[in-house]
Amino acid sequence: MTHETGAALRRAVPDRWRTRFAPAPTGWLHLGHAVNAIYVWGLARAHGGRVVLRIEDHDRARHRDEYERGITEDLAWLGFDADEVAPPQRERYDAYARALAPLERDGLAYPCACSRRDIAGVVGDVFNEESRYPGTCRARGLDPQAHVARRVRMDDGIESFDDLRLAAQSQEPARQCGDVLARDRAGQWTYQFAVVVDDRDQAIDVVIRGEDLLASTGRQLRLARLVGRAAPPRYLHHPLLTVPGGAKLSKSAGDSGIRELRASGRSAAEVLGMAAHAARLIDTMRAVTADEVPALFRG
Ligand SMILES: [Zn+2]
Repeated sequence: MTHETGAALRRAVPDRWRTRFAPAPTGWLHLGHAVNAIYVWGLARAHGGRVVLRIEDHDRARHRDEYERGITEDLAWLGFDADEVAPPQRERYDAYARALAPLERDGLAYPCACSRRDIAGVVGDVFNEESRYPGTCRARGLDPQAHVARRVRMDDGIESFDDLRLAAQSQEPARQCGDVLARDRAGQWTYQFAVVVDDRDQAIDVVIRGEDLLASTGRQLRLARLVGRAAPPRYLHHPLLTVPGGAKLSKSAGDSGIRELRASGRSAAEVLGMAAHAARLIDTMRAVTADEVPALFRG
């Protein structure tokens, strides 16, 4: 089994490592989050950076206060302390509107009247990489007063970036997803738009997240420039937890919840050890405290 280390990162290490841990309060913290936290805190601490905690509660329908409290508690139990706490997304709607306004003025964003049925699988579906918005409303000249949804144009062009772990990447948002939904028909800001504006306003230098989000990085880089970020963040995509057989560990798998592991009597260091081992950061299972995590990335 290959061993993941920080070694691959040394080729193009950023000067500044202000990063963020950004859970969505739509469920409890699970082992997959622990892996992400290990990467976020480990890399930030190993490089003298800072960690911003941001609650990504843009999805008001699925957000639950008890999840938000639970995430904060479990994170503290694991031993991860944020250097700063960013405002939750529910307090940032005005900021998103201010970021969108110049795009609308310049014709880079436009109203969209399409329903979920009109473009099956696209509207509101953040992670579906297979479906592409065909640009139906681009040239319709819809009345912005009559339609609340907005899309941001993804014109032709390649987005190239140097992933800090996966090296050179090349993506083409216009072909992959088409124009990106920034605000949906219910008036809710989308994940893609909200996080880009948050990363800009919170001066995030490095975004550290799982490989399952790799395909959406090109569109986020494009959006970042469109909302005025001259130097978009660097990205590092880390491996996802796998179970024997190679399947991605399900978020709903009961045995992967930090609460359940905690209730079963495991220590925080044992849980971090499980996560680090499953992410191949350590070769043999052992306890790892939060204080020991940066050493995993010092190589
Ligand atoms: Zn449309």
